[in-house]
Amino acid sequence: MPGVCYSLIQPTPVREARLLAWNASLAQQLGLDASVPDAAAMQVLVGNALAPGMRPYAARYGGHQFGNWAGQLGDGRAITLGELLLADGSVRELQLKGAGQTPYSRFADGRAVLRSSLREYLCSEAMHALGVPTTRALSLLGTGEGVVRDMFYDGRPESEPGAIVCRVAPSFVRFGNFEIHAALQELDVLRRLLDWVIGHHFPQYASGTGDVADSRRYADWFREVCERTAVMVAHWMRVGFVHGVMNTDNMSILGLTIDYGPYGWLEGYEPGWTPNTTDASGRRYCYGNQPQIALWNLARLASAILPVVEDKAALQDGLEHYRATFAAQHQRLFAAKLGLRSLDRPEDESLLADLFGLLQQAETDMTLFFRGLGALEGRAAVALALYEPDALSAEQRAAWDAWLTRHSERCRDEGEPFEVRRERMNAHNPLYVPRNYLAQQAIDAATLGDLGPLQTLLRVLERPYTEQAGCEAYAAKRPEWARHKPGCSALSCSS
Ligand code: AMP
Ligand code: MG
Repeated sequence: MPGVCYSLIQPTPVREARLLAWNASLAQQLGLDASVPDAAAMQVLVGNALAPGMRPYAARYGGHQFGNWAGQLGDGRAITLGELLLADGSVRELQLKGAGQTPYSRFADGRAVLRSSLREYLCSEAMHALGVPTTRALSLLGTGEGVVRDMFYDGRPESEPGAIVCRVAPSFVRFGNFEIHAALQELDVLRRLLDWVIGHHFPQYASGTGDVADSRRYADWFREVCERTAVMVAHWMRVGFVHGVMNTDNMSILGLTIDYGPYGWLEGYEPGWTPNTTDASGRRYCYGNQPQIALWNLARLASAILPVVEDKAALQDGLEHYRATFAAQHQRLFAAKLGLRSLDRPEDESLLADLFGLLQQAETDMTLFFRGLGALEGRAAVALALYEPDALSAEQRAAWDAWLTRHSERCRDEGEPFEVRRERMNAHNPLYVPRNYLAQQAIDAATLGDLGPLQTLLRVLERPYTEQAGCEAYAAKRPEWARHKPGCSALSCSS
C-alpha cells in the first residue's frame, strides 16, 4: 500500500458476540459505562456494529523479523475503531484484534483464537498491575466461529474457537510504522508520521516550542523513545517476563509492552529460556537477550528516521542513552529486589552476578526466590524456590550460604530497619505472576465454557504484590506435569 500510513477498513461481522471478560475498572477510567455491556455494546466489541464517530482503520507498518527486513506487514487482523478523548485531554485508541481481514492480511484470515486472545487479555492486565508499561485490555468476546490453526506446525490443522480482544493504548504505532516509509523512500510521509506522533503523543518536542531546529527536536524525541524502551525492558527483567517476538513491528513507539503472542514467564531462572518454539534454536528473543535486542531494534528505528533527522551523532547519543538508562534502571530495580537502596558499591557487581549464577546452577524459581528473600530466613527462601531441593550438592549449599551471608551483611551495612527493607522488596518482588501453566488452565476451562478459573486468576493478578488468603496455589512452583505440556512451557506463533 505505497505512500499511506493506514487504510480505512470495516471489521468483518461474526456470528455471535459472547462476553468472556470485561474490564470494568478500565471502562471507568475511559469514561465509558462500566456496567456489563449490553447486547448493543457487545456488537461493537466484536466488530458487528460501529458506535457513532468511529472510523475504523488498519495501520501500515513493516518490520525486521528475527533480524531480517520483512517488508510490509501492517495490521493484518487488528482494526482500530477510533480514539476516545478522555476528560484529561489524553486519547486512547480502541483496537479490535481478530476483527477480520485488512489490506495487510497477506494470506492470513484476520482472525484470532480464544487461547491467544485470552492470553493477551490476561497478561496485559497482569503487567499493568505489576507496574510494567503496557497496552491494556477492555474486553474479550467469543465470536461463535471456528478458526483453523495448525498449532504445532505439524500439518494437523484444527478448528478452534475464535475470540476478539478490544485493546487500548494511547497509540499502537510501532517502530515498523517508521521503517516502512524509510525502506520505500517515502520521506514526506515519514516526516508527516514523525510530526503526527510527536504532536499527539510527545507535545514537548512539537514544533513551535521555541526556535529549536527540527533535527534537534527529532533527535530529542528519539532519545525519549530510547529511555522509555529502557525502562520497559528493565521492568521485564525485574518480573521475569519474556516477550518472545521482539521484532521491530512489535515494539511500541511509546515504550509499552505490545502484541502479546508466544510470551512466557520465567519459572526457573534461566537467561537462555524462550517460550517461542519458532525461536527455540536461535534463542534470539530469550530472557537474557532482551536488553540487547531492544537496543538493536532502536538502532533500526534510528536508521529509519536518519534521512529526516540527518544528525547521525545525535541518534547515536540516543542509543547511548538507552544503554545508560537500562543499566541504571536495572541496577535500581534489582537493588530494590534485594532490599537494598542501591547497588553502586564496587563489590555489588559480583553480589548480583554471583546471585544470577547461583539461581541458574539448579532450577530455582525466580519469583519465589526473590519474594521469599523478603519474608524468610535466607536458606528457607532458597529451599522454597528450588525445584529439586534435595539435589543440591554440599558445594552448592556452601556457595548459597556464603552468598546469603554476604547479602545480609550488605543489608546490615545500609543500616535500614528490616521493615523498611521488606516493604521495598515486597513492592518490587511480585508474589503472583501469570505463570504459563496458570494461563493454560484458564484457557482449558474457558474452552469448555467455564470462565471461573479465568475470573479468579484475573482477580488474583490485580494485586500481585499483596498476599491474598486462600490463593497459595497461584503462588506455587510450576507442577511437574506442566514442564513440557504445550502452552505451559512452549508456544508457537500460531494464534
Ligand atoms: P505477529 O507475529 O503476531 O506480531 O504478526 C506479524 C504480522 O502478521 C502482523 O502484520 C500481523 O498483523 C500479521 N498476522 C498475524 N496473524 C494474522 C492473521 N491471523 N491474519 C492476518 N494477519 C495476521
Ligand atoms: Mg505483531
